[in-house]
Amino acid sequence: MPRRSRRKSHSRKKLASEAVNDLYDVLNENKDHDISNSAAKLILRIGKKHGTRVRNYNGITICRSCSIAMVPGRNSTVRIRSKVVKYTCGVCGRVKTIGPSFVM
Ligand SMILES: [Zn+2]
Repeated sequence: MPRRSRRKSHSRKKLASEAVNDLYDVLNENKDHDISNSAAKLILRIGKKHGTRVRNYNGITICRSCSIAMVPGRNSTVRIRSKVVKYTCGVCGRVKTIGPSFVM
C-alpha cells in the first residue's frame, strides 16, 4: 500500500524532527557534561537515521567527529571572520563554519 507507507514515513520524519528539537532544548538548558554529550550523540543518531537536523542553532553546536556538544568557553572557541562564524572543537580541532554563504 504506497499511500499508507507514505503517510507513515511523513509522520515518522515529523516525530524525529520534534525529538531532535526537544533534545536540542535539553542540550541548551543543561549544564551537565554527560547529559549534553549524550543529547548531542542522540541528535546525530536520529539525524543519520531519519535525515532530520536542528533547525536553528543558537550557541551550542555538535562536533561531527567526536559527537560531543561544543559549548563556547568550555570545549570550543568561536571566531567571527569576514561575516563567517567559525566554531572550533577543543577536543579534535575540527572547524564548523556558519555564515551567509554557507547553507547548513
Ligand atoms: Zn571534536
